[in-house]
Amino acid sequence: MGHNILDIKMCLITHLHGDHFFDIPFFLLDRYFLKPNETVKIFCPKCTEEKVKKLFDLGFPGEWDEIRKKSKVEFSEFVGEINVKTDGGIEISSKIVEHGDLK
Ligand SMILES: [Zn+2]
Repeated sequence: MGHNILDIKMCLITHLHGDHFFDIPFFLLDRYFLKPNETVKIFCPKCTEEKVKKLFDLGFPGEWDEIRKKSKVEFSEFVGEINVKTDGGIEISSKIVEHGDLK
């Protein structure tokens, strides 16, 4: 879409189908190496960080703990419907819909 990935300060993951979050490790690696001092917030469903760790374990074994410790990523995990106002004043609300089996 022409946006510089390093300009992203927050993102929203709506659900945990692969096409919505399998690229998070690459996003976090870019942030870790190229913009390590700026916080990025990830609003996401419950268990997202755990699943991102599993992706790191598959693709970059042994790297997660170091990257997680030194990067300024904040996972804000939600359950069910939410209404959140970000630091920047953006309001996020969700509604539960049927969209495949996410087990
Ligand atoms: Zn989906």
